[in-house]
Amino acid sequence: MSNVIKLLPDHVANQIAAGEVIQRPASVVKELVENAVDAGATKIQLIIKDAGKTLIQVVDNGLGMDSSDAQMCFERHATSKISSADDLFNLGTKGFRGEALASIAAIAHIDLKTKQVDSELGNHIVIEGSIVSENEPCSCPTGTSIQVKNLFFNVPARRKFLKSNAVETKHILEEFQRIAFVHAQVEFQFVNNDQEIFNLESGNFRKRIVDIMGKSYNQRLVPIEESTDIIKISGFIGKPDYAKKTRGEQYFFVNDRFIKNHYFNHAINGAYDELIAEDNHPSFFIKLTVDPRDVDINIHPTKTEVKFQEDSAIYAILKAAVRQSLNKYAVAPTLDFNQETSFNTPLPKGNISPPEIRVDKNFNPFKSEKDWEKGASFQTPKGDWEKLFKEDQNPQDYNDFLSQVHYEKDNEQVEIHNQAEFALLHQFKGNYIITSRNNELMIIDQRRAHERVLYEFLIEAQAFEAKKPQQLLFPETIELTPQGSTILQDLIPELSKMGFDIAPFGPNTFTINGTPADLTEIDVVDTLEHLVEQYQLHEKTFKEKKEQALAKNMATKIAVKNGQKLQKEEMAHLVKELFDCDQPYKSPTGKNTIFALQTEDLLKYFS
Ligand code: ADP
Ligand code: MG
Repeated sequence: MSNVIKLLPDHVANQIAAGEVIQRPASVVKELVENAVDAGATKIQLIIKDAGKTLIQVVDNGLGMDSSDAQMCFERHATSKISSADDLFNLGTKGFRGEALASIAAIAHIDLKTKQVDSELGNHIVIEGSIVSENEPCSCPTGTSIQVKNLFFNVPARRKFLKSNAVETKHILEEFQRIAFVHAQVEFQFVNNDQEIFNLESGNFRKRIVDIMGKSYNQRLVPIEESTDIIKISGFIGKPDYAKKTRGEQYFFVNDRFIKNHYFNHAINGAYDELIAEDNHPSFFIKLTVDPRDVDINIHPTKTEVKFQEDSAIYAILKAAVRQSLNKYAVAPTLDFNQETSFNTPLPKGNISPPEIRVDKNFNPFKSEKDWEKGASFQTPKGDWEKLFKEDQNPQDYNDFLSQVHYEKDNEQVEIHNQAEFALLHQFKGNYIITSRNNELMIIDQRRAHERVLYEFLIEAQAFEAKKPQQLLFPETIELTPQGSTILQDLIPELSKMGFDIAPFGPNTFTINGTPADLTEIDVVDTLEHLVEQYQLHEKTFKEKKEQALAKNMATKIAVKNGQKLQKEEMAHLVKELFDCDQPYKSPTGKNTIFALQTEDLLKYFS
């Protein structure tokens, strides 16, 4: 048997390669726009018709090609971007395989006009199914204009496989945006069926995001920045309030190339833990810069999955950076009186730095409810209260005055430092605490605030300092179903760290000998039954994140209820504890705890 093996003709090989590189019109858009960026264009125009099925045209003002390159570029493995395999590891451009144009030419009609700056005439090339039908000098502007028409005209199976125009246009938009986000210095125009969709001026990353996503994004974003030996992180993350039900707005770019990385997504979601509801996803636009040698980006031209050498280190750095940025910039939701987009103010307004409060360690926020009920009344502090409200008149006097402020309670002096930070304390409708601090008027949801305080307290107890139980005078017993008792048994190690003293006592029965010293007022049997029930309902969450699930469910169960009257001292303490938290602005279930109004907002409103 001879002559069984044949070399495939070039145009067939190109068609096969095209199947890999070009799956749909959006793939052509990606290749052409990336080529324009690589050519150093400062202006790129994308024109499509019928979702790219009839026409995809990209016009750029980049370097252009001379007449021989203009023809060469359609050959397989024709590339100006690498000349040896080593170059692959030091790539500053998008392309490298020299495969895109050859592939596209095999499955579409091509019309190319290109001119270099110092040539008088450009070149016009027409190709149909890999065959050059025209190659002539022409007059055209410097740069390149390439039209790709009738995509898959000779691959009917592919053409049939394309989705509706709406779906294909969505894919094109996505590819366009992924490139436009990270090339903010380049002007982009996108015209779809003769209608202009985008006209993006050059600017910085923030401006580009806002121009693409909409003006409202300016106030939704907070900057993220970190620089280490292995990675540099920059970009923006969305405030927790604006988390979405869909994952759409999550962008990672590595060395200015869009990538997907589920592992890093996980790091970011983790940093938002407890700040957003469980079924929501944060938005982010994050640029990672790494040494090209540490990342294997070049696996496949259309692949967006990327391998990093230092995966787990990057994971930790990323998570910490997001967390830090949220801590630093996360602000209480404010009314947006300012509809104008201003790009020169990168920091969101209302940036609150946590107050420095020295808290009386002996003062027990949970136990003391009873004392307050007994009527330990809020006494006028020794000092001139009027001064408190004139804080901006003479800050020095005011601070001196503050250091003298004392409260009297049951003959025992409880010093409350910096009390004027929360000078005003008023309970509204039994649900909200109205208070003020520095330049802000704040409304705090009492129940959610208490949930946050308890949550962090319980997490800390599990992580760091095991709490000593306060022994109960009359131990209680709890009887559960067999399943329930397995669950409680499973939770005992964490519960004892929190300060619960629970021991098995006969079949499916436990005795509770002690509770956390700070939580002696809770109905302990009811609370434990609730935890067991929640465990049964959300088994997966409890198994995966036991500490958080436990703390969250306990906090929501035992927090002060809405409608419960609070004394001024209770409010003062709760508010201070809240601002001592890592994440004061959200309840452990991701709901808002604080609504804040800035003085400037009031001035604007009453102007
Ligand atoms: P690659 O981008 O991987 O090199 P392509 O097939 O996309 O492969 O392009 C082949 C070559 O054609 C490029 O290396 C570049 O030299 C040239 N080229 C393609 N598009 C343009 C353009 N818009 N402007 C200038 N040169 C271009
Ligand atoms: Mg290319």
